[in-house]
Amino acid sequence: MSDTPRPDSAMLDRIRIVLIGTSHPGNIGGAARAMRNMGLDDLALVAPRCDPKDREAYSRASGANALVDAARVHDQLEAAVADCTLVVGASARSRHLPWPMVSPRALAENLPQALAPDGARLALVFGREDTGLTNAELQRCHQHVHIPTNPDFSSLNLAAAVQVLAYECRQAWLTASDSAADDDAAQPFGVAWDNPPASHADMERFFAHLERTLTTLAFHDPDNPRQLMARLRRLFLRAHLDSMEMNILRGILGTMDKRLRDTAPSPRRDGE
Ligand code: SAH
Repeated sequence: MSDTPRPDSAMLDRIRIVLIGTSHPGNIGGAARAMRNMGLDDLALVAPRCDPKDREAYSRASGANALVDAARVHDQLEAAVADCTLVVGASARSRHLPWPMVSPRALAENLPQALAPDGARLALVFGREDTGLTNAELQRCHQHVHIPTNPDFSSLNLAAAVQVLAYECRQAWLTASDSAADDDAAQPFGVAWDNPPASHADMERFFAHLERTLTTLAFHDPDNPRQLMARLRRLFLRAHLDSMEMNILRGILGTMDKRLRDTAPSPRRDGE
């Protein structure tokens, strides 16, 4: 650590590794070791399908037992990433609905900027050993990252995938720390932004509100949803909304709700 705090000095502390439904405790230990090697220490487990404190976890963690002990366990992905402003899902294969895709290097090179604002936090989300991430989980991510592997044998061991992405994050951090302090380079969108980024929890509340309002409007039919909400998720996640923009959108939805209530025929009038 240098004596003079730099805008990006906390970059690695703002990266959370999230493992969903892990079935082999050795992979939790292996991921913890990979993280500690690269200077990451925020590990979250979502509905693990094994005992994270199994002997095999500690054996593979080697000296990174503290990360295994400190790992927070959640029932749902939502809770593990609620405070994150950038959520990226690691996926071994492409999915039906194309989603913004980044390479590990491009993802990492963007981090000194993306993680510069106060409160910014990244979640790197990894899937199950047997089935990866579900479509619903992937649709909660701003972006997907694919480690460019042999297309005929594309799926890495879970801890190995964590290692590759943690390595890229560390290299990007080292490069940013080495380069001369450049205020502009440490700002998202290349300038000092006026509002902090919206968190995952803000985004999920917005999507729930949007779906309710669109349903009331009869634009959206939950019984025949097609891919409307997935496409709207993709659109709004791509925009990387800040908290003021989020408030404006919630305000617009709230005003629409009120108008819909005001103009809806009341049951009493119906009967008159
Ligand atoms: N059989 C699963 C892959 C499981 S590997 C499937 O078909 O999806 C466990 C996890 O490691 C994946 O969910 C993903 O998060 C990560 N992973 C493995 N290989 C990867 C790759 N090439 N790129 C990005 N993530 C990868």
